[in-house]
Amino acid sequence: MATYTVDPTTGAITNDACEINVVHHCNLSCRGCTHLSPLWHKQFIDIDALANDLRLLSKFYHVNRFRLLGGEPLLHPDLVGVIETVHMSGIAQAVAVVTNGVLLWKMPDAFWQAVDIINVSMYPDRRMSPEQLQICQQKAEKFEVWLYLHDMNEFREVYTELGTTDRTLVKRIYDTCLYIHRQYVHNIEQGYFYKCPQAVFLPKLLKDKFHSPTINGVKITDSPTLGEELRAYLASCDPLASCTYCLGSVGTKFAHKEVRRSEWRQFQHVHSEERIDFPLLKALEQDLDYQEVWGAGSYHKMYYVRSTEDYEQCLVGMYR
Ligand code: SF4
Repeated sequence: MATYTVDPTTGAITNDACEINVVHHCNLSCRGCTHLSPLWHKQFIDIDALANDLRLLSKFYHVNRFRLLGGEPLLHPDLVGVIETVHMSGIAQAVAVVTNGVLLWKMPDAFWQAVDIINVSMYPDRRMSPEQLQICQQKAEKFEVWLYLHDMNEFREVYTELGTTDRTLVKRIYDTCLYIHRQYVHNIEQGYFYKCPQAVFLPKLLKDKFHSPTINGVKITDSPTLGEELRAYLASCDPLASCTYCLGSVGTKFAHKEVRRSEWRQFQHVHSEERIDFPLLKALEQDLDYQEVWGAGSYHKMYYVRSTEDYEQCLVGMYR
């Protein structure tokens, strides 16, 4: 089931969204972080290397939205430079920043001028105050930025350290994975293109389980066959190496909480079978649009803020 289109004449790929990790580290330590950010040391994206990757990739690949995240992207000292680099590459219609919002109200006008969309993941006990939110809303209106607030109270388990030896189960996890069948979250990381964020991060973390940290990716080169390689990679029905340790969309659900970075991995020292929501797996096998996985109270509620009226409604919903 494709989530992207291929132009029959040129072979160019168009997808809804692609992500880059502007930094790897974060100022929070959420137990359910899908990018494993509490485990990474400070690391900032190299803007020149990014520009080169986008230049090569944009010959064959375009997206509606290019999403900048991490880690916490607002920790990058030249985030405006990153946004401008993406804009100049012509690879995307719009640039979105995905943030936990803690620093958002402090961001300078140059940031609001550069960005098109902001998605704020609002975590319990880490939400902006109404005053900070109001500053953001005013900036969004002034600079015509689309500001979305996602109320994130629950997570699903992302991966396990012990994985599974059951190849049939790995295929079932892959086939029900909404990251690649519904959410369109391709990733670019240090010269490689990936189907999903877990394909980037799991081999970097579980070094003894994978023979290369880039095992799941396609190298971005100036080869004329790059488009062909990308199309074959995206069309493949074979699970990625990282799917052996990843839980895709069917990890068991738990309430959001932050944990000490030194203790973060210990929660994952189990086999995949112990952290799979099997009723959800079966439901998704029958219907990938099964609503429970997306419904309010399952992942998040979303509020859109543009007009003052929207903002007031958002506050009512968020702080009631
Ligand atoms: S590693 Fe596999 S299961 Fe996990 S998100 Fe990627 S494709 Fe889905």
